[in-house]
Amino acid sequence: MNKLYVTITIDTENPQTLYVANTCKTDTLLNSNNEKNYGMKYILSAFKNYGIHATWYLNIYEKYLMGEKLMAKVCNTLLKNEQDVQLHTHPVWLMDPEERKRIYMSQYSLEEQIYIIEKGIEDIYKLTGTAPIAHRGGAYGINKNTLQALSATKMKIDSSLFYKNPNCKISSIYKNSIHKLGGIIEFPVSVYRTNTNYLIPYKSDTDRIEKVDINYSAIDDIKNVCESNISGRHIYMNVFMHSFSFYKFFYDGIKPGVSLFKPDKKAIRKFHVVMKYLCTNPNVEIITVNQLYQKLENLKLSDNDNVPKIKRIRIV
Ligand SMILES: [Zn+2]
Repeated sequence: MNKLYVTITIDTENPQTLYVANTCKTDTLLNSNNEKNYGMKYILSAFKNYGIHATWYLNIYEKYLMGEKLMAKVCNTLLKNEQDVQLHTHPVWLMDPEERKRIYMSQYSLEEQIYIIEKGIEDIYKLTGTAPIAHRGGAYGINKNTLQALSATKMKIDSSLFYKNPNCKISSIYKNSIHKLGGIIEFPVSVYRTNTNYLIPYKSDTDRIEKVDINYSAIDDIKNVCESNISGRHIYMNVFMHSFSFYKFFYDGIKPGVSLFKPDKKAIRKFHVVMKYLCTNPNVEIITVNQLYQKLENLKLSDNDNVPKIKRIRIV
């Protein structure tokens, strides 16, 4: 039977939309206002129970907003738990902290992007002692210059290509396959196609591309995507989440009078079911992006660009 390598990647940051809009200033990574922390601390303790090593794409640029002390604590906590720290670029805090207009990598020139990535590598190295090798652009907002800048700064992997996402300004003939793109290895955000038939006749069927994500995907979707990859001989996929995936504001935004730190119990339950499924599936091996990179030399990558299809029937 074909082995499926699954990377669990966590965009590690405070909620950028709220921060850019200045509606939130509180750290959600480690802070909890004396309540239980459902950010990094909760995810790490769950990973410890499951024996999972994940990849944390760290928005190190929040250092210029929240201070280096917090970022140092974040890095120490991740390293202590033997997690993989890689680079997540939300350049606004380094390049445009006052106006907050340029929030995507694609809004910067090649020279600026090289500077942003160099600074990110340097800042992560300073706090972890290891230079990152993999990158994910904030909100997938990269363009061709980003790939060139990653290649110029000796990064190895980009993981921002998100098929059909409007923020993602690069295109590729591949949707899910790991491939060379613009001089660097591209490990796309894993996607699948859903086709929903509505039984009520006036509502037409929908055909959508979705990413494999703890918040957005149904449990059965994730299981079906795994099974499709295993039987389709597609040997790797990514499960996406955020460091703030378990807070209620993820969907609803922060409303006056509602605690910022209120847990989203439904998302938490879903996370545990998916982790248990992955850990107990004999055909699945959970590895970090760094471990996957080490394996790439010996892995026979297939051209089979599998996009799993999921059919759903809904009453309304
Ligand atoms: Zn982000």
